[in-house]
Amino acid sequence: MTSPIVRFAPSPTGRIHIGNARTALYNWLYAQQHGGDFILRFDDTDKARSKQEFADGILTDLAWLGIEPSRIERQSARFAEYEVVTEDLKAKGLLYPCYETGEELERKRARRRARGLPPVYDRSALKLTQDEKDAFEAEGRKPHWRFLLPNYKDDVFAIERTEIHWDDLFIGPQTVDLGSMSDPVLVREDESWLYTLPSIIDDAAFGVTHVIRGADHITNTGAQIAIFQALGFTPPAFGHHNLLTGSEGEGLSKRLGSLSLEGLRADGLEAMAVASLASLIGTSDAVEPISRMEDLAKLFDPHKVSKSPARFNVAELEGLNAKLLHNLPYESVAARLAVPDNTDGRLFWEAIQGNLQKLADAEIWAQIVTSGADPLIDEEDREMVHQAIAMLPQEPWSTATWMDWANAVKAETGRKGKGLFMPLRKAVTGSASGPEMSKLLPLIGRNTVLDRLS
Ligand code: GLU
Repeated sequence: MTSPIVRFAPSPTGRIHIGNARTALYNWLYAQQHGGDFILRFDDTDKARSKQEFADGILTDLAWLGIEPSRIERQSARFAEYEVVTEDLKAKGLLYPCYETGEELERKRARRRARGLPPVYDRSALKLTQDEKDAFEAEGRKPHWRFLLPNYKDDVFAIERTEIHWDDLFIGPQTVDLGSMSDPVLVREDESWLYTLPSIIDDAAFGVTHVIRGADHITNTGAQIAIFQALGFTPPAFGHHNLLTGSEGEGLSKRLGSLSLEGLRADGLEAMAVASLASLIGTSDAVEPISRMEDLAKLFDPHKVSKSPARFNVAELEGLNAKLLHNLPYESVAARLAVPDNTDGRLFWEAIQGNLQKLADAEIWAQIVTSGADPLIDEEDREMVHQAIAMLPQEPWSTATWMDWANAVKAETGRKGKGLFMPLRKAVTGSASGPEMSKLLPLIGRNTVLDRLS
């Protein structure tokens, strides 16, 4: 196989959420696996709603996830190309003007349903005479333009079953009947394009070999293949992955705020926790924190992705985030970790990583390593802690110091088990839980412990 070229094609009309991240990641992982190229294409034909700030934000979100497009394109820069193809399709009669309003179309659909017919467009615009069209134009009506699907032999009104097949990368062989579909609208009344035609022109122009996208596009694929063919292009391979929903089964865009990549990042979640969940949920692989994109790419297989929607839940993401941090090597966080002054970053990380839910929690422990904590001493432990302070070993301290100290205190006070260790931990860290004391104590150091306890 020659190297694949994939594309992720968001509309920059808002920020992307974890469900969009799944699409971006599947494209990226596929490209990584096969040594292919990943194109980021902004589908910004809707000039009013597309914003540069959203395009910039999407780039930031992808970079955060570790996705680096090898090429960035925007449809708004390519209108001249689309114009040429549009005029050509019009000249060939494959794109025809329709003057029905939304209400008229709705009435037609209702009438067809009432007669037990599928609510597809009846092509009545093809029966309009030039005079009738002129009359509509004189009224101020503007046409929208439909693509004439190749579902007939000679007579456009004698529609026949016309099968289109594709072998979907994710869901296997698919068949749709162009005879049961409405001619798709490609150009709106205001002369703007829907994403369909520009997308096809671009996929062909950029040599896209695989269109990987959400299952919400399955129903568009038959007509799109027909348009590729009408333009003389070989259609790419298609793959449609199951969608993510919220924990109640609702669409994710409804909760874009909290589930946007921007929001998840601001909440302090790790990019690889998000990437792991976004790509592994709803597959036959276990949802595990994977710390490197290369390893996610090794796991990725479209056949492992289930056919039904997968529910996404923030609690699961938070759990995965903690699990990821508990196993991350120091190198993966070194650049982002706030290490206390005069402290070995690796030792600090190894001491605290098992206690983190989010990386930002490291600051609490950095604070304690730097300047200790307000001691927490229960009344019944006061005397014992007092004795323990006097027995604090001399420096240098190592990971053996904690047990040396505890053993000395045990010998002196007769305390053991929890009654020995807990009061010492609470006195030094101000908390009943936290990192292993043998690792933490030498990082805090004798002077700081004494300063706080004396
Ligand atoms: N802009 C389209 C969307 O976000 C792209 C669909 C496609 O990938 O073909 O839905």
